[in-house]
Amino acid sequence: MPVIAIDGPVGSGKSTVAQAVAARLGLAVLETGAMYRAVAVLALRQGIEAGPAGADALAALAAELDVEAFDPAELRTPDVNRAVSAVAAEPGVRAALVPRQRAWIAARGGGVAEGRDIGTVVFPDADVKVFLTATAAERARRRGDEDAEGVARRDHLDSTRAASPLVAATDAVVIDTTGLSVEEIVERIVGLL
Ligand code: C5P
Repeated sequence: MPVIAIDGPVGSGKSTVAQAVAARLGLAVLETGAMYRAVAVLALRQGIEAGPAGADALAALAAELDVEAFDPAELRTPDVNRAVSAVAAEPGVRAALVPRQRAWIAARGGGVAEGRDIGTVVFPDADVKVFLTATAAERARRRGDEDAEGVARRDHLDSTRAASPLVAATDAVVIDTTGLSVEEIVERIVGLL
């Protein structure tokens, strides 16, 4: 089962690169951020906050999650951008979602998975692990309409949390995507197989 793990901070190019690598190799692609975002949508709707008071309720939402029920646009609102990192820092949420990520890829006979902890936690035995980076200016250009302060805050929370922080796996290949075309990045990744 070929598994390609792609991790990195906001604006590093994960999503675009994961889609392109998957298309090239004829593999399925799993954007794990969508699952954490969907839990954040439910938490906002139900007024559940991350932290000791909400931890059990958030883990229950994650366990019952049907990510297909969400419109992609509602996963990417400013409110969700603000809320998602605290939700994703809950160990109970991660414990519910990680087995589902593994099962999703296994059911498809392999695939490309992208997120923050794919190479470190979800698929530590992935065939290829890449950690994408880009300069601050390049990431700012790519981040869409999310403001710089919000992105910095999200990356900081994701990198400093206790549970599965954003970090390059020791055996990941770090690729600085600044100034590279999507095709060039795909070539580098496919060349690692
Ligand atoms: O990749 P995306 O920006 O959609 O991810 C949204 C948030 O979900 C991240 O900022 C992070 O808090 C969380 N996340 C995570 N682990 C992953 C993927 C995303 O904690 N594997």
